[in-house]
Amino acid sequence: MKNKVVIFSAPSGAGKSTIVGHLLGIHPELEFSISATSRAPRGQEKHGVEYYFYTADQFRQMIEEDKFVEYEEVYSGSFYGTLRSEVERIWAKGHAIVFDIDVQGGVNLKRIFGDQALSVFIQAPSVDILRERLIGRGTDTEEAIERRVAKAASEMEFASGKFDYVLINDDLSTAKTEAEKVVSDFLKK
Ligand code: ADP
Ligand code: 5GP
Repeated sequence: MKNKVVIFSAPSGAGKSTIVGHLLGIHPELEFSISATSRAPRGQEKHGVEYYFYTADQFRQMIEEDKFVEYEEVYSGSFYGTLRSEVERIWAKGHAIVFDIDVQGGVNLKRIFGDQALSVFIQAPSVDILRERLIGRGTDTEEAIERRVAKAASEMEFASGKFDYVLINDDLSTAKTEAEKVVSDFLKK
């Protein structure tokens, strides 16, 4: 297996972290790409675990220094990006990289990595279910949830036809099994 990447994109709340977490638990050769962000840590999040946390000024400085493979201002004032050093760190261990990234970022990464990449779009069965899941997760304010839901519809439209695989996350155990299969097939290639 040489320098492969698996990209997961989805509107927030569709179940990306849940499915990615499951895959990381069963495939030791997969390693999560820790993104840099300028948003504040949520709950117990720690620098170097869920994200590398920086201020917006530090983030802009790193953009100037060309430190990113890609970056996006995913929400107004909140930057997220993949550091070149992170890609090198994971490939140096002989691992395949797993990205959990917004829809635009996923399309950009697929363009950059081409056949080295499998890009998977995770979709909730409906926008109402997406909202319910975000409420149930209990990590975002009402306002942030509405922002994320509003963004989801345009993300789904934008994503159409741009990913290698679309995974509908309705029943979770079915979705996990489907994700296992598509990723295993790709890693074997
Ligand atoms: P994302 O990473 O895409 O923002 P999460 O993985 O955090 O989404 O999932 C959002 C919420 O929905 C979480 O509370 C998670 O436990 C729940 N969830 C994920 N998949 C399902 C599913 N198939 N059915 C019901 N709830 C789910
Ligand atoms: P959250 O704030 O919920 O952790 O993430 C918000 C969004 O930013 C999610 O859609 C997540 O996938 C996306 N994201 C995380 N890391 C990156 C990254 O490195 N680049 C881009 N473009 N988006 C990212």
